[in-house]
Amino acid sequence: MSSSRDAVGLAPWACWPERSRGRRFAEPAAGTRDEHQRDRDRIVHSTAFRRLVYKTQVFVNHEGDLFRTRLTHSLEVAQVARSAARQLRLNEDLVEAIALAHDLGHTPFGHAGQDALHGCMSAHGGFEHNLQSLRVVDTLEQRYFAFDGLNLTFEAREGILKHCSRRHALRLCAAEADGPARRFVDGGQPSLEAQLVNLADEVAYCTHDIDDGLRSGLLQPAQLEAVPLFAHWHEAARDDHPGEARGRARTPPGRRVIFETLRRLLSALIADLVQATEAAIAATGPSDIGAVRCGPALVAFSGCQRAQIDALKHFLFGALYRHPQVTQTTALARQVVTELFEAYRSDPGEMPAEHAAAQDTPRAVADYIAGMTDRFALREHRRLTGRRVFGDV
Ligand code: MG
Repeated sequence: MSSSRDAVGLAPWACWPERSRGRRFAEPAAGTRDEHQRDRDRIVHSTAFRRLVYKTQVFVNHEGDLFRTRLTHSLEVAQVARSAARQLRLNEDLVEAIALAHDLGHTPFGHAGQDALHGCMSAHGGFEHNLQSLRVVDTLEQRYFAFDGLNLTFEAREGILKHCSRRHALRLCAAEADGPARRFVDGGQPSLEAQLVNLADEVAYCTHDIDDGLRSGLLQPAQLEAVPLFAHWHEAARDDHPGEARGRARTPPGRRVIFETLRRLLSALIADLVQATEAAIAATGPSDIGAVRCGPALVAFSGCQRAQIDALKHFLFGALYRHPQVTQTTALARQVVTELFEAYRSDPGEMPAEHAAAQDTPRAVADYIAGMTDRFALREHRRLTGRRVFGDV
């Protein structure tokens, strides 16, 4: 146990880098960085991470330069997670690593792309973005002589594999008995750092999707007044800035009031998460990470906040994610992914040599498509079909 870690106040139940369960392939220590700092650095330098800049979060990339992409979403998740981790004395470098990697397995065009690819792969084991994120860091990144993948620590991989069906877990355990899929067979919990990133993801998208929804004009502030969590902070922001509030009667609501509302909402969500988690940790008193993995889930919102977040998510689902303008785009995106899959399957030679040469053609096609950015997928679709599904993009 390092005294320098005590000095920065890492809690006994946090992931201490010197107690890591290690990497699949043994490597000498980095010297200037600890194991989880090294995980984070490897993710930042990966090809899959750079591709996130041109992958859809909710809005397809060409719809506007200011909407969130998978990259800016991941950075916001990392910000939320680090902020809470510091207060909870959890490992900030590890939560940052998990946050930056948590969406690496997403296809182009967000959930529409994943659904389409899962449909194409239904007879070949399916496609699921959490499994794909692990596959990216374990196998698909090829930049080291000694191994495929990034050879991340167990703790980083455990956080990246956030969900996994029992069927997939059994398959993964057959290849790696004590790997990160084990808990989906045995029923254990991941580290508190992994649990935290999971909820930081929710905090980030709940707030930034309101911002993007309003910016796009698909959501109106008046609609959001029906959502208690938004209405509460919106009213507080207007009360503190009555000049802006009066202006609302004559002109569209000021952006500053919205920003102030979302800032307060974000802070409130993080504060609630930290408080409820501190209470759960105090009630359970895990002695170390081993006890965390055997105990109940400890990172949580309060019951009241949980219910309000669920109401907000329900609203976003109906009003934004299922907005006709969004679903029209996602229908086209599904078409692009499905037609790309068919084209590469019938002629694998259309893919780069390393994918074309793979034994398992459907999986190689899925890996290739999943790695694409939105705009590369559209360019390939145009090359292979001669059609432009999104007009002049
Ligand atoms: Mg996410």
